[in-house]
Amino acid sequence: MIGAKRIVMLWIVWGIAWLGAATIQRSIWKPGETFSEYLQRRGVPLQVLRSISPEDSKYLYEIQGGEPFFELIDDNGTLLQSLIPLGEEMQIALSRQWGSGAYRFDIVPIVHKEVHDTVALSVRSSCYRDIDRVTNNPRLGFILKTLYKRRVDFRKLRKGDRIVFAYRQKSRLGEPWGQPVFQGAVIRTRGKDHFIFVDRDGNSWLKPYKEVKTVHTGTKTVYETVTRKIRTLRNRKGYIRPIPGARITSPFSYKRWHPILHRYRPHLGIDFGARRGTPIHAVNRGRVIYAGWMRGYGKVVKIDHGDGYVSLYAHQSRIRVHRGQYVSRGQIIGYVGSTGRSTGPHLHFGLYRRGRAINPLHVIGKGGSRYVVTEVTERKKRIKKFAKTEIKKVPIPGAEKLKKRMETLLHSSSVKGYRWREIADRLIYVDQITKHKEASNETGYDDYGQTDR
Ligand SMILES: [Zn+2]
Repeated sequence: MIGAKRIVMLWIVWGIAWLGAATIQRSIWKPGETFSEYLQRRGVPLQVLRSISPEDSKYLYEIQGGEPFFELIDDNGTLLQSLIPLGEEMQIALSRQWGSGAYRFDIVPIVHKEVHDTVALSVRSSCYRDIDRVTNNPRLGFILKTLYKRRVDFRKLRKGDRIVFAYRQKSRLGEPWGQPVFQGAVIRTRGKDHFIFVDRDGNSWLKPYKEVKTVHTGTKTVYETVTRKIRTLRNRKGYIRPIPGARITSPFSYKRWHPILHRYRPHLGIDFGARRGTPIHAVNRGRVIYAGWMRGYGKVVKIDHGDGYVSLYAHQSRIRVHRGQYVSRGQIIGYVGSTGRSTGPHLHFGLYRRGRAINPLHVIGKGGSRYVVTEVTERKKRIKKFAKTEIKKVPIPGAEKLKKRMETLLHSSSVKGYRWREIADRLIYVDQITKHKEASNETGYDDYGQTDR
């Protein structure tokens, strides 16, 4: 850790050039003691009180009795510095000035140092006690136990079991501060390795990745059949109209001006105007004798109704029957289109008797009794909402690297713990704390620092 090295060097420079020998003392603020009583007790001239602004002087009442604070005292017993917390974020810094010996009063932020540490240990007595012994941080064991909940029973760990874990811990003046944050751990017990990896939300996973459920929502087009009943008329011979209700756009004629050919031509059928896709019904029951392409007529169906009658349905967009099929009266045989020679979607309907085209209206045009056609096949688009669940593997940042490092530490035997108090001495001077703040910023989240032991 670059940061730590820089702090040690600063300490050496500061220690030699400025102070000579001095010791850090951690004390508890006596309940009820006032700031001026403290100054008197430490032999600090009371004139420092006059330098405190009225705005700042109210903070003197905020010193918490029973809370720890830090003092730097030289060999002659002179107070060089005092750091007294005011709540969790700020502290009073009382510093003796070099040369004049006067004291300076400041209110400065409490700087948190963050340590990234990987610890490996063998269970000797209880794993909580062992973790505390090695880290001086009793909370670690209990948090680790929660992370292993229902995976490893900490009461069943045995002497010689190996525990490796990586965590971050903030420290304030050399003491653990706030909750430690685990990155991962491995416990080897009864010949099995139990890994856990912790994501940024504090959830533990057995693999270096987490399985995230994602729900995709959207809409899709579905097709469904719609049943519709259409009323029409059936004449005495049993014939109905191919498209109930459709308008006749061009009548039967032996001599008609052809709009495409620009010539007189016979029109041996009736044109019904209808939109593309409109179902075409068999005008009577019969047998399909033709279903396919006919030049000029496009897609065509011809039905033999017996008794010498044959019907023809031309320009279809899609044919729904095949040759040889028997169809019932009103059955859908295809859909209106514009195939072949056609100026637009319509049905050309022809009726033949003994091979000769006749005016269909002579057969289907005559009224008759009411008849109901059931239309069953119309497919309709519908938008349907859907939700699909997908499980995705999301790597936990740094977890693969951590796994390798923990695996190595699982086997190495000479790993000692890290003691918070050892660094406490290096963190006390205000200027240094400021410097340290810069240094600690260099340590990013994914950098699992490993302390030299
Ligand atoms: Zn026609």
